[in-house]
Amino acid sequence: MSFIASIGYFFFGVAIAVLVPRFPFLLMTRTKGFNTHFPPHPEAVSLSPYLTQRILHMRMFYWLSLVVVLLPLGLGIASIRWGNAAFGFGLWVSSGWFVLNRLQYFVGGQPPPWTKEMAVELQILADEAERSSLCCNWASPHWGVTGIYCANCNKLLSNMPRPDLGRKRHGRWPMGFLRLLLSDGYPMLTFASQDGHSEEE
Ligand SMILES: [Zn+2]
Repeated sequence: MSFIASIGYFFFGVAIAVLVPRFPFLLMTRTKGFNTHFPPHPEAVSLSPYLTQRILHMRMFYWLSLVVVLLPLGLGIASIRWGNAAFGFGLWVSSGWFVLNRLQYFVGGQPPPWTKEMAVELQILADEAERSSLCCNWASPHWGVTGIYCANCNKLLSNMPRPDLGRKRHGRWPMGFLRLLLSDGYPMLTFASQDGHSEEE
């Protein structure tokens, strides 16, 4: 096999192992039926038990990827032993990096885009809004790109930036998909406008 072909197989392996463990997060919730309780991306989402549950689902998909990554790892071993070694090595490098990246959280690294604490904070805000003790009499907290604000009185209630919520991305393919892949679910913050509830990305 030529050197050029080996390089090609290596990068093909890398690409496969980048995509496969992210399948749950990239695909599971993107269909229309999954998002009937939410406005289309990138509109602000009102706080509700559905939103809290969505955060917990996204968190589950995030950690599920550590199970799914066993597929490219296994395929990598098989390829190195019996098949195309360059392809297998590409799978291994990419999957290994993915596992290390996920596990660094346990040694004080960056937390996942979705956490239980986040879900709890959202639910507390939603409950307070229902009891009308939050900001105004008709408190209606919405989660925009840069934070949570009240749609009624416009008060900023939390500056927690919004991660990906698993909604379908519109716009020209493959830009939305690539953006999602590159951000890996983390919030997309804009530098241009800091007015608390900008809806740009
Ligand atoms: Zn208000």
